[in-house]
Amino acid sequence: MLDLGTISAAVNSLHTASKIAQGLMSLKTLAEVQSVAIDLNQKIIAAQGDIFAAQAAQSALIQRVSGLEEEITKMRNWEEQKQRYKLAEPWGNGGFVYGVEESRKGSEPAHWICTKCFDDGRRSILQPRPDKGLWLHMTCPSCNSSIPTNMRGITSPVYQPD
Ligand SMILES: [Zn+2]
Repeated sequence: MLDLGTISAAVNSLHTASKIAQGLMSLKTLAEVQSVAIDLNQKIIAAQGDIFAAQAAQSALIQRVSGLEEEITKMRNWEEQKQRYKLAEPWGNGGFVYGVEESRKGSEPAHWICTKCFDDGRRSILQPRPDKGLWLHMTCPSCNSSIPTNMRGITSPVYQPD
């Protein structure tokens, strides 16, 4: 987080340094001048340290904003993407998937996507996998969900009616 206290400290240090510099003219001896010069130098070094800290905080903040912008773009893209899908129970056995709607298919072939991943905000296309060489399951490559189809052979996904 950007620490406004750091900037304010830098401003205060510079203000003090400026006052010390103004007082230089009224000094009478070299010893007094040397003492004030040391003090002045310390104030300037402190101000520089505060400025560096403020710059580091600003840089971290810029990085954070950039990360959040990326996240917002991803979320918007997903919001758009998820509108294309409809919940379906293609095998009539309680196994649910999301299928792309006919009118929103674009150039993509028909496919099923995982309901768990859908709820987690991402699209993961289900892949057929035979279970014990007999019954076909549709499995998710992302979360390993497995949906039984109660079918022995591979069935092609279909588009969902609007
Ligand atoms: Zn999944």
